[in-house]
Amino acid sequence: MSELLIATKNVGKIKELEELLADAPIRLRSLNDFPKAFEPEEPGATFAANAVLKARSYALQTGLWALGDDSGLEVEALGGAPGVLSARYAGTGATDAERIEKLLKELSKVREENRRARFVCAAAIARATGEIEFVAEGVCSGSIALAASGANGFGYDPVFVPDGFSETFGALSNNIKQQISHRARASQKIIQYLRRFYAAAG
Ligand code: IMP
Repeated sequence: MSELLIATKNVGKIKELEELLADAPIRLRSLNDFPKAFEPEEPGATFAANAVLKARSYALQTGLWALGDDSGLEVEALGGAPGVLSARYAGTGATDAERIEKLLKELSKVREENRRARFVCAAAIARATGEIEFVAEGVCSGSIALAASGANGFGYDPVFVPDGFSETFGALSNNIKQQISHRARASQKIIQYLRRFYAAAG
């Protein structure tokens, strides 16, 4: 494995992963190098199932080892919603602001004080043959703020307050998010795996 395709077109995620994987001894490629590759549906019931599906599909499409990921927000009082539907929570074509608005509205309808939530990221590596080599999961626990704040990050960042902090990911620096995010934690496991892989390969 000399090249690894990061199977995402999300600019925010590409940037985060590139920084997190910067010291891995491989050349990273992204879907921008493969404009004809198509994104598979994400019908899985879990983040891990969707990550596996993406990794396998892109490996087979490009002939490269591929890293697929799936992530989202689980809110306890909403029974884990929006979960694997995080990107489509307010319908296709909706904006981040519309998804946040829906989330805050749904949470205000629930008659309990519980605003616990967690971001989850599953990542899977497929060999060029499509065979799944490794699956990892990272979690970042926290709570949902009463109102959106901050302009950093993307998605639900303006309403997610990670444990140990009093501000949202939208207001906290990128540097802090890079250290404690669900994606950072999944990526750290991926990096460990890659290092073991290269050590074993001599
Ligand atoms: P997917 O992994 O591309 O399916 O995206 C899932 C959705 O979850 C994104 O569109 C965001 O709405 C949300 N999400 C995933 N990771 C983050 C994050 O780090 N911050 C904010 N929202 C996120």
